Amino acid sequence: MSPASRPPRVAVVGSGVIGRSWTAVFARAGCATSVFDADERQLERALAWLREHSLSGSEHVRACSTLEQAVDGAAYVQECGPEQLPLKQSLFAELDRLAPGSAVLASSTSAFDMRDISEATRHSERCVVAHPVNPPHIIPVVEVLGTARTSPDTIARACELLSAVGQTPVVLKKHVQGFVLNRLQFALLREAVHLLKAGVADAESIDAVVRDGLGLRWALLGPFGVADTNKDDGVRAYIRGYESWITDLMDQLGPTPTFEPELTERIAEALDRARGDVSRAQVRAWRDRMVLEIRRLKAENPLGKAEEREP
Ligand code: NAD
Repeated sequence: MSPASRPPRVAVVGSGVIGRSWTAVFARAGCATSVFDADERQLERALAWLREHSLSGSEHVRACSTLEQAVDGAAYVQECGPEQLPLKQSLFAELDRLAPGSAVLASSTSAFDMRDISEATRHSERCVVAHPVNPPHIIPVVEVLGTARTSPDTIARACELLSAVGQTPVVLKKHVQGFVLNRLQFALLREAVHLLKAGVADAESIDAVVRDGLGLRWALLGPFGVADTNKDDGVRAYIRGYESWITDLMDQLGPTPTFEPELTERIAEALDRARGDVSRAQVRAWRDRMVLEIRRLKAENPLGKAEEREP
């Protein structure tokens, strides 16, 4: 959105955990945002959630009683229905029929291939996955991926709109189960469970290593960026110097674990102990507040600016 252009009209379909958060993203950016849910009471709950969280832009939100009403005039549709393939397939067929011909149809799906979701659409070139991280009004990254039938223009328009509303679209080249985010997340979780089961450390210690170690750098640099900064001469020297140590260690990483009830219980008890009197809702609110603080700091101190201050 250039400063002169009017924010586009957006429709959010499904107003659960993800749909309500997407509504906050679009509305705070000034987009006229129509929301529809098959369950009227859920839609009311979502509107109440938006009020409760005092999220800005609520004047741009319009609750709709039909899908047709919601997509009327929309330039972009963000589908947030339940994660069930037949449901998403019929929803996309309907969206394709009802939405303006120029609208981008995006799905929040965490797992499905857009090739399957868009099977019954006539205009699959405008269908794309825009997978958010929960909750998208706090965490900006969105994994964007199409199919062989998705037009480059659809990907470009989806990315343009997502950037304009303050998100960080990342385009994936092809479908893979879990996309990138969940594959990386579960790779770490697999090893965390392995270390716990092998008796190397308890759950609190493993969380601390990530929270007060790896995680601090990861808010600024990815795994490749970390490797590049871990050696004075950068990633080439890092890989040259450590390759056999890294690959030997990788060979020793744990297999896919089984989650016995006692194991889950052990993890849950450790987390309850660590939280003490603080409720889970308080932890979540604190986490969201702190993530916004980190984002603010990062925006105020982009890499180039930091370099200028180097002695
Ligand atoms: P949810 O169950 O909280 O919400 C789904 C909503 O869709 C419900 O309010 C339901 O009433 C509504 N719905 C059902 N059928 C509908 C229809 N035909 N038309 C319109 N609305 C309909 O689910 P969620 O957690 O918000 O997930 C939504 C999507 O986002 C899923 O595809 C999920 O995989 C994806 N996603 C979820 C997360 C997460 O952490 N929750 C993260 C990333 C992506």
